[in-house]
Parts: sequence; structure tokens; C-alpha cells
Amino acid sequence: MLLMKNVQKSFRTELVETHALRDFNLQVKDGDFVSVTGPSGSGKTTFLNIAGLLETYTSGQYFLDGQDVSALTDRQRSRLRNEKIGFIFQSFNLIPDLNLYDNVDVPLRYRGFGTAERHQRITQSLERVGLANRMKHLPSQLSGGQQQRVAIARALAGEPRFLLADEPTGNLDSQMAQSVMALLKEINRQGTTIVMVTHDPELASQTARTVIVKDGRICSSDLPDPIPAVSNQ
Ligand code: ATP
Repeated sequence: MLLMKNVQKSFRTELVETHALRDFNLQVKDGDFVSVTGPSGSGKTTFLNIAGLLETYTSGQYFLDGQDVSALTDRQRSRLRNEKIGFIFQSFNLIPDLNLYDNVDVPLRYRGFGTAERHQRITQSLERVGLANRMKHLPSQLSGGQQQRVAIARALAGEPRFLLADEPTGNLDSQMAQSVMALLKEINRQGTTIVMVTHDPELASQTARTVIVKDGRICSSDLPDPIPAVSNQ
């Protein structure tokens, strides 16, 4: 479960201080598929980066599977992120001169898995996204939708409990967007909790729950559950 209580995030530059998140409260339960939508600059990516331990917060509390994230060292945060979180981004972030197999292998090598374990994870995750027959292709030989599938395979190979997606269909035409969305729904059905930032209300409507963020706060939510007291963690 992801649980944020009164999370605030400010960015300070020499000239201005921007309050990207203000009193941000959100609970994402295991198995959820939550979409996060709202105007440009409202704080969606900042929220996702904090949820995925890519970014720290200024104040408030964030518990990831009951663990108080603020108490962790940088090294512990990094380990927790590798263990529990998978990311996908609008721009796929594939390495252009590595084939699909090697792209999916990059984070697995980084985490120090042995050859046999890596091979199993790579082939299984490419099978899950329907690209097992393209392992030796380069990203440039694939459509945008297929490239996003490789990025999803790379995230899944880490066997994350949470998949965080920042505008995963933003670079795709509507047909490819629907196909990536269908894949995400299937991955969610198989047990992975997904949080997806999107500008597209039609895609947001396909998720189990939607929160709307405005000026760094959740202004509307169909999340039915009250946020439990942090002391219950
Ligand atoms: P978009 O839909 O356009 O991607 P968003 O809702 O994801 O926007 P964020 O990217 O989270 O919004 O930004 C929220 C606010 O924080 C904006 O005012 C943005 O300019 C500011 N911001 C984000 N990152 C930084 C940073 N590294 N330094 C300074 N300000 C930042």
C-alpha cells in the first residue's frame, strides 16, 4: 500500500519558491489501478516521483508498504525502489543501440542478478508484453506502441509490486494508446498495483479509480476509503 499524509513539496530557486504539492493525502491499496489527472503544472509528476522514491518531500509522511520512507538512508531508498517499484515514462527511455533483450537486461545487471535468473526474467517479461519473438530487434525497428511495451517489460522484469506510469500513452496514437492501456489492465489483473498519470480523461475513465489534482492538492477523488490514521501503520 502507498500512503501519503499531508505531503508537501516545494522547489526553491534563487528567485522563487514553487509549492508543487500541498497537503497531499492519498492511499493506494494493493491491487488498485489509480489514474491521476489534472491541469499542467498541478503536481502530478512530482507526486509520482515522490511515490516512486525518485524525489524527496519537504514535509508530511509517506509510507510504502507500511515503511516510513523519511527514515531511510539514500542507499535504503534506492534498494526499496529497486525492489518494489517499476517506472514507465511517456518517452519510453529505451537505449537506442541495445536490442530489446539487452534493454530489459540493463536494470537486472545493475541489481546484480546472475545470468540464468536474468535470462528467465527477460524472456518471461518480453513474453508477457507479446514481444518474445523480437528480442534481437533494436527499438528503432518497432512502432511506438511496441517500444512502450518493451519499457513495460523492462519494468516488469524487476517484479515490482507497484508500477508507476507517467503519461505512458502520451506519445502514441489512439489505437496504440488503447493497446498499451489493455496491456496495463491485464498486468493489473495479474496483481500489480498501478498508478498512472494521464491527461486523457477517456483513459482515466478505464481505471478503477481516478484522482484529480489541482494546485498541488487532490480536488476530487472517487477513492472510497478514508485515509487511516498514520499511527495505525
Ligand atoms: P504536466 O502535466 O505539465 O507534466 P504536472 O502536473 O506533472 O505537469 P509537475 O511537473 O509535478 O506538474 O510540476 C508541479 C509544479 O512544480 C510546477 O509549477 C513546476 O514548474 C514545478 N516544478 C516541478 N519540478 C521542478 C523543479 N525540479 N524545480 C523547480 N520547479 C519544479
